[in-house]
Amino acid sequence: MASARDFDIAVVGAGIVGLACALAAATRGLRVVVIERHPRARGASVRNFGLVTITGQDRDAIWSRARRSRDIWQAVAAAAGIPIVRHGLWVAARRAESAALLEAFLHSDMAEGCELLTPSAANRRCPELATRGLQAVLVSPHELRVEPRDAMPALARWLAREHGVTFLWDTAVRTVDLPRLDTSRGALSAGTAVVCPGDDLATLFPERLAAAGVSRCSLQMLRLENPGFTLPGTVMSDLSLVRYGGFAGLPEVAALQRRLSAEQAEWLRHGIHLIVAQSGDGSLVVGDSHHDADAVGPFADERIYALLLDEYRAVTGREPPPVRERWIGSYAVANGAVLVDVPAPGVRLVLVTSGSGASTGFAIGEEVIEGLGH
Ligand SMILES: Cc1cc2nc3c(=O)[nH]c(=O)nc-3n(C[C@H](O)[C@H](O)[C@H](O)COP(=O)(O)OP(=O)(O)OC[C@H]3O[C@@H](n4cnc5c(N)ncnc54)[C@H](O)[C@@H]3O)c2cc1C
Repeated sequence: MASARDFDIAVVGAGIVGLACALAAATRGLRVVVIERHPRARGASVRNFGLVTITGQDRDAIWSRARRSRDIWQAVAAAAGIPIVRHGLWVAARRAESAALLEAFLHSDMAEGCELLTPSAANRRCPELATRGLQAVLVSPHELRVEPRDAMPALARWLAREHGVTFLWDTAVRTVDLPRLDTSRGALSAGTAVVCPGDDLATLFPERLAAAGVSRCSLQMLRLENPGFTLPGTVMSDLSLVRYGGFAGLPEVAALQRRLSAEQAEWLRHGIHLIVAQSGDGSLVVGDSHHDADAVGPFADERIYALLLDEYRAVTGREPPPVRERWIGSYAVANGAVLVDVPAPGVRLVLVTSGSGASTGFAIGEEVIEGLGH
């Protein structure tokens, strides 16, 4: 383990937020070390959809950051050889109230580049969506998707190779008291530190995280076998319209909320909305649900998976293909989209507290490194 003042900046955590900070620091010519307790990233950043969601995001905190992050993802993916496996988002509205909400959204500046398709136009371009009951489909060209379990290791390898970032894997940081960081494998020193612990609320600065009201949210996910068709983009349904701030902030959401409460109360109770994201091999990542992680513990509930698959049937009009994988993910939640705290001079504690770090991570990395005066 290194001992002298070895690095300009130490980044704790090799999730997307940590790697985004490492990239922003390395491109400013700083000597960067990333310290990760696991042999590779295995938190939210590899358990999510790998989706940079733009259309429908909350304007102030997320939408503009997501657009900036998308641009960085595009550049990084090309440079690092990370495939962009899908572009675009298709929101399938099965209720008149959803269609009215999408119509209202289309008149906002956040809908730039989007189009609202009639059911027959949607069916011509995407026959995989169920026509029965379909009212309208919002098509957004802005999103992109990477395969997170491949993209995250590839991003780390590229940062090491092309930007000289040092990675210390299998190494837990126990304390940060600049210039010293104590780890499970010895001490090192750095001029500044960025702690990006994801949903680890217990190891570093737990009192600051508790004071900020940070807790953990648990999500159930599935991967289905290749259904034998290719989706034109990532698919969402009516349930997503009450979750994403850019849609849910419109007055038209009230009528939709009433109807969903009457017709899909069980889905709402489990915080379920449908995202179907297709991978390069044709398989489908399907999710997700939202629960207080401490209340549900580490146990996946089969009823949640059944509700997700029911929504899949409703949106596609087809039986789902066999399930290949099931997993649980979790992320930090609090009031506000992002927490950037200063627990000590030269130290930043950075958490995405709204489940949107795949979309906003690269922009947050730039902001944090700029904020440190680098
Ligand atoms: C199922 C699921 C679906 C999601 N869907 C979306 C989506 O559609 N769009 C979107 O934008 N976002 C989505 N998200 C949220 C997004 O994945 C997270 O916001 C983002 O990955 C958080 O990144 P992170 O780097 O902060 O955390 P993580 O990826 O959890 O990484 C934190 C890392 O820090 C390490 N660490 C912590 N403490 C220490 C320590 N003391 N020493 C060493 N290492 C440490 C951990 O081991 C971990 O690897 C989803 C998340 C999940 C779980």
